[in-house]
Amino acid sequence: MMFYVNMPNFATVKESTAKKDIRALTKDQLRDFFVSEGEKAFRGNQDYEWLWQKSAHHFEDMTNLSLSLRQKLEENFSINHIKVDHQQRSKDGTIKNAVKLHDNFIVESVMIPVQSRTTACVSSQVGCSLDCKFCATAKLKRMRNLNPDEIYDQVVAIDKQSKLYNNRPLSNIVFMGMGEPLMNYNNVLKSIDKITSPEGLNMSPKRITVSTSGVPKMIKKLADDQVKFNLAISLHSARQEVRSQIMPFNEKFTLEALKESLVYWYEKTKKRVTYEYIVWKGINDTQQDIEALIHFCKAIPCKVNIIEYNPIDEDQFVQANDKAVANYMTQLEAHGITATLRHSRGKDIDAACGQLANKS
Ligand code: SAH
Repeated sequence: MMFYVNMPNFATVKESTAKKDIRALTKDQLRDFFVSEGEKAFRGNQDYEWLWQKSAHHFEDMTNLSLSLRQKLEENFSINHIKVDHQQRSKDGTIKNAVKLHDNFIVESVMIPVQSRTTACVSSQVGCSLDCKFCATAKLKRMRNLNPDEIYDQVVAIDKQSKLYNNRPLSNIVFMGMGEPLMNYNNVLKSIDKITSPEGLNMSPKRITVSTSGVPKMIKKLADDQVKFNLAISLHSARQEVRSQIMPFNEKFTLEALKESLVYWYEKTKKRVTYEYIVWKGINDTQQDIEALIHFCKAIPCKVNIIEYNPIDEDQFVQANDKAVANYMTQLEAHGITATLRHSRGKDIDAACGQLANKS
């Protein structure tokens, strides 16, 4: 299998970076720009509304601004909006978007309709700097972080798709696409600010989940920043030596440090976390693995999502059989730990967890 990231065309990069991305400006900075051009500050508010709430892609669409003002904006700024380059629809209704960025890099995002809800799975980086052995995205080197507007645009695009295909707006967002959100901390938080703001999409933070492989320092920072969204940890093993084999960064960001950061998180936020966990044959399917997980779960209130493994052409990883999974479920429940079995969606189009790798 080939994994690649589309390399940008450097002529385009030069052209598009010549002007400043207008959505990198705060509302105050935008107002200041208008004032410096001899305009009233409230024109900045109008422009801000076009850029975020109305998601305008072109200055010419901002019809309550005069033609000369629109031209002035055009001369000074660019709107680095994303473009859904390519769509694949699964037989279960899931849609995978190949999203082209202004500098021609491609990331993927997924629309997942489940009963009465629609979930957007969004990317936070081009590629990923972590090296989880079972994840297709890990084969792509991290090329760059996404900007807040590029994350926001993925959500807007999926909201439109949900209205079009499911007759309802988007209801939930998970940061489970490409990349490690906590290694692009500021931009991820800025994007969530816009998604939850009445000046943006006005969505509840309770409907947003950020998933991380576990960067202890950043989990503590989330707690200090008193974030209101949900936190999920891709745990997959509660045994230091086993986890280090399948997620090598675990040697540096140890389970002990992870646990300590989660205790800190819970003390500060009083929010329980979700652990994502795959059971593999011969890797983490023994009684010792189950007991280690139960012990880990006792640290703070939590729930466990046992997720299905989506094969990515790595022979060493094989989904454990139903009996092994049931063994986990019963023992977790016997210890009062909520455990749910999650089935993957969009597998036929490589849109399921861990399969995002710009294959098409
Ligand atoms: N880096 C973050 C965000 C990516 S989320 C994180 O690790 O949490 C992607 C989720 O899919 C993670 O829970 C990851 O562990 C899981 N995953 C990765 N590869 C997978 C695969 N092949 N099958 C099923 N889940 C996988």
